[in-house]
Amino acid sequence: MSKKKVVVVGAGLAGLSAAKKLVDAGFEVQLLESRPLFGGKVSAWKDKDGDWVESGLHVFFGSYQKIFELMKEVGIYGNISWQTPSIPYLNPGGSGFQIVSNEHLPNPLNLIPNFFFNHQFALSDLLKYCRAIIPVLMRDQKYIDAQDEKSFLKWVNQFGVSENMIQKMFLPMTLSLKFLPISQISAQVVLNVFKLFITNPKGFKIGFLNGSPQEKLTGPILKYIEQNGGSIALSKKINSLNLEEVNGIQKVKSVQGSNGEVFEADHFVFALPTHKFQELLSPVFPDSEYFQNLRKFKGVPVCNAQFWLDKPITQDKRLHFGTAGITPVFADMNLACLDYKTKNGGSMIETVVAPAENIFNLGHEEILAKTWGQIASYFPEGVKGAKVLKSSLVKIPQSVYAPHPGLEKYRPSQKTPIPNLFLAGGFTKGHEFFDSMEGAVQSGILAANALIQS
Ligand SMILES: Cc1cc2nc3c(=O)[nH]c(=O)nc-3n(C[C@H](O)[C@H](O)[C@H](O)COP(=O)(O)OP(=O)(O)OC[C@H]3O[C@@H](n4cnc5c(N)ncnc54)[C@H](O)[C@@H]3O)c2cc1C
Repeated sequence: MSKKKVVVVGAGLAGLSAAKKLVDAGFEVQLLESRPLFGGKVSAWKDKDGDWVESGLHVFFGSYQKIFELMKEVGIYGNISWQTPSIPYLNPGGSGFQIVSNEHLPNPLNLIPNFFFNHQFALSDLLKYCRAIIPVLMRDQKYIDAQDEKSFLKWVNQFGVSENMIQKMFLPMTLSLKFLPISQISAQVVLNVFKLFITNPKGFKIGFLNGSPQEKLTGPILKYIEQNGGSIALSKKINSLNLEEVNGIQKVKSVQGSNGEVFEADHFVFALPTHKFQELLSPVFPDSEYFQNLRKFKGVPVCNAQFWLDKPITQDKRLHFGTAGITPVFADMNLACLDYKTKNGGSMIETVVAPAENIFNLGHEEILAKTWGQIASYFPEGVKGAKVLKSSLVKIPQSVYAPHPGLEKYRPSQKTPIPNLFLAGGFTKGHEFFDSMEGAVQSGILAANALIQS
């Protein structure tokens, strides 16, 4: 019997995980990707000197599940280098504090000592924080889910947490998580992450890939797909779909590329950023509530910057949170990532630049200058005499979906009203990992399972 054909549009982690699951289930799978490289937001390419430029600084959290299973199946789980479970926060001027998981205490007590011995916050503040966090630990998921209509700011304000704590501790967290200030992010999203960090014994572990995602993550997954009969076509931007009616039921017959090329299949999985779904699907299904709801999802603008230096500015290989403003999360990748070791031994600082809304339209040089100014402020001693040899900036106008308050109820299922069309992407429902590498992988698997069951 000939295999059923599936076209998967979009070769980010969601599309790749759906394709992997589908080749395993015996389907003939073709991935179509608009860019000349696969991996989407987890992609990287080499500059003229052979150094890797990344779309984004990526780390794994110990609470992830399906992405680890997938990596084990493909034989690449060993490509993650796990760090000691602690996150240093740095203030301009170099002072700071850290959140360390105390291995001698059980969850959730393992994180509590940090808050009392960091000399950054008043005791009254810490007690208010504990009062806020206890309901998250004591109550069930229903409590967390019910907080979706509130912003995280509104949620912490209920407990009278001080501005100092909000700015220094929570703002870098929400900017790192979803690149959004705390007034714009749903409390449910942040509380879910707290729960995963605090209640899962492995939740607080942080891991880096030991090389580029092309070589250590997405590339090997793609190789697995190809070895199992799947294929990929790059530089194929899909810009329309053709419908047909079979026994009175509307189905997708084919998708069409910008150069007119047509790709037919029995089933289709769209694994695209949210705005791309709107471009493709809304005009075709203007009256469907399911597709109308997709319009509520918007991507957050974000930038990723890398700075190569002539000398090391830190000896600390951990992921850092920064409290200065637009550099919420960064790392010295010369130390954190084996294959990114610089030839001269100098630091290579990679940082997420968020919130990016107000600076996005500035020129690259201006954004890089602002960004470097903040990074340098965290390492006043280290940067003395250090020279930035080169830098890179990647701008993503609509990156991960923005989990604004009240949006949770509109997250779509992977199964759509069109029986042979399935969606994947962190914004689709059925998992608590939102738009992250884990969320993308879980959504791809859920889409593939829905297709297999259909
Ligand atoms: C700066 C940054 C840092 C991040 N850090 C972390 C982190 O530390 N940990 C973590 O877990 N997550 C992190 N994330 C989130 C993570 O990268 C994403 O959630 C995940 O990669 C999304 O995967 P996806 O496949 O759903 O979407 P995408 O990666 O966006 O993939 C969609 C693919 O579809 C393609 N496409 C678009 N339009 C078309 C079209 N018309 N036709 C064909 N193909 C098309 C795109 O080119 C792309 O390859 C970060 C994201 C960014 C931007």
